[in-house]
Amino acid sequence: MSSPIPYTDPADLTHYIGGARRPATSGRSQAVYHPASGTVARQVQLGSVEDVQAAVASGLAAFPAWADAPPLRRARVMFKFLELLNQHRDQLAAMITAEHGKVFTDAQGEVTRGIDIVEFACGVPQLLKGDYTEQVSTGIDNWTMRQPLGVVAGITPFNFPFMVPMWMAPMAIATGNAFILKPSERDPSPSLLMAELFKQAGLPDGIFNVVQGDKQVVDALLTHPDVKALSFVGSTPIAQYIYETGAHHGKRVQALGGAKNHMVVMPDADVDQAVDALIGAAYGSAGERCMAISVAVLVGDVADRIVPRLAERARTLKIKDGIHLDAEMGPIVTREARDRIEGYIGLGVEEGASLVVDGRGLRVPGQENGFFTGATLFDHVQPHMRIYREEIFGPVLACVRVDGFSEALALVNAHEFGNGVACFTSDGNVAREFSRRVQVGMVGINVPIPVPMAWQGFGGWKKSLFGDMHAYGEEGVRFYTRQKSVMQRWPATIAKGPEFAMPVSR
Ligand code: NAD
Repeated sequence: MSSPIPYTDPADLTHYIGGARRPATSGRSQAVYHPASGTVARQVQLGSVEDVQAAVASGLAAFPAWADAPPLRRARVMFKFLELLNQHRDQLAAMITAEHGKVFTDAQGEVTRGIDIVEFACGVPQLLKGDYTEQVSTGIDNWTMRQPLGVVAGITPFNFPFMVPMWMAPMAIATGNAFILKPSERDPSPSLLMAELFKQAGLPDGIFNVVQGDKQVVDALLTHPDVKALSFVGSTPIAQYIYETGAHHGKRVQALGGAKNHMVVMPDADVDQAVDALIGAAYGSAGERCMAISVAVLVGDVADRIVPRLAERARTLKIKDGIHLDAEMGPIVTREARDRIEGYIGLGVEEGASLVVDGRGLRVPGQENGFFTGATLFDHVQPHMRIYREEIFGPVLACVRVDGFSEALALVNAHEFGNGVACFTSDGNVAREFSRRVQVGMVGINVPIPVPMAWQGFGGWKKSLFGDMHAYGEEGVRFYTRQKSVMQRWPATIAKGPEFAMPVSR
């Protein structure tokens, strides 16, 4: 593989409204970092209430014609968008590595998983097909159709600056809505490239708008009467706030929150496979994935066989600027996030967990100011500890030792988060029992990060999802559309005279 071209464009990041870049009216901006060097790479302008109003007005103006366009015509725009995304894969991945810090190959994987959803959205004529029942009563037929909502918005987290917007925008747009993206202010560059590629694909101006910003923009979207639905992905306290505030303002809301994903390793598991899975799932993307494994639940004697091997691998991870193709882990997104993670490591020591590998204070030669921290491993973590209960969102793996399967299952089920979980075993009965009884939305059997495919839909349980519909897949189609039922008859079959009793099938 040839080396990627680093993304270094220093230009300010603006909004994208009505088919063109547009500066923010607030005069406020925020630094966007290159976390590997710790330097400010560019500024993102932060939007105001007026900017949100402009984006909604642009969406409202464009919506009627787009909603009226035959689904096949909308699908053709998606096909073109797909082609353009494929041409810009590495450019998108380089942007992600530059602003987020994840290694380039991982960023490429993110781009691919985002493109998967665009491929799914290309099938929108099939997805929008309604049901039809002939002759529900003599001479009467009944059918359903799904229609778009209007202007809808998506608020996305820093950790997947391309994939998570793609969970939302292609589904919303293919089903006939106008979409406003409020990307994370920490890595906003991919949002503008998406907007430009949508335009090149032939999407009418105003159907995909980007408003950069922070809480001010989010609050303006939450309270704007013409924003009909909000999709959110981010941390649990904000997800809950978005869900409650959006519902209070009469909006449809899906709000995906944080996680603390467990991987149960049974004594009969293949230890080599379990170690590989834990190292990749705990430290890949520096643990900044909502599906990262942050707790290893080691059943019985497997703990003594696994912990020394995890320690050896954690100590020798290749940690450097993710633009190098041999990097296994890059920096943390910001200095504050790095300090917060290292604060949790200190807390774990105070709480009495055994610190087997301490990642604090890592300095990468030549990039001493980068926001790096090393892979950290705790053993003998107890369920009452904060390092077990709270989401750290960094490369910190907590090992909890339990005696048997029932204890492992009870531990997972007692946690307040329920995003993803995995069980490594070679016993089919254990696997079956685990997947049936576990109180978590996405389950992997010998698969550490079971992110559902584009047509399946993504969503956790408990405090990992507020609302009842998952992102993308058929639930995504339902989220961005309303069902209408039509019942029809023609004059030849209409009986004479009014009917006062509840109509029934005749
Ligand atoms: P975050 O909650 O800080 O930010 C998410 C979005 O909300 C950003 O666009 C941000 O600008 C906005 N925001 C932040 N504070 C706000 C406030 N007070 N009011 C209104 N809006 C606000 O999350 P993050 O740090 O960007 O992302 C990491 C979090 O996202 C982790 O908790 C992770 O588990 C979660 N996540 C969950 C999923 C999932 O599918 N469940 C996927 C990816 C990330």
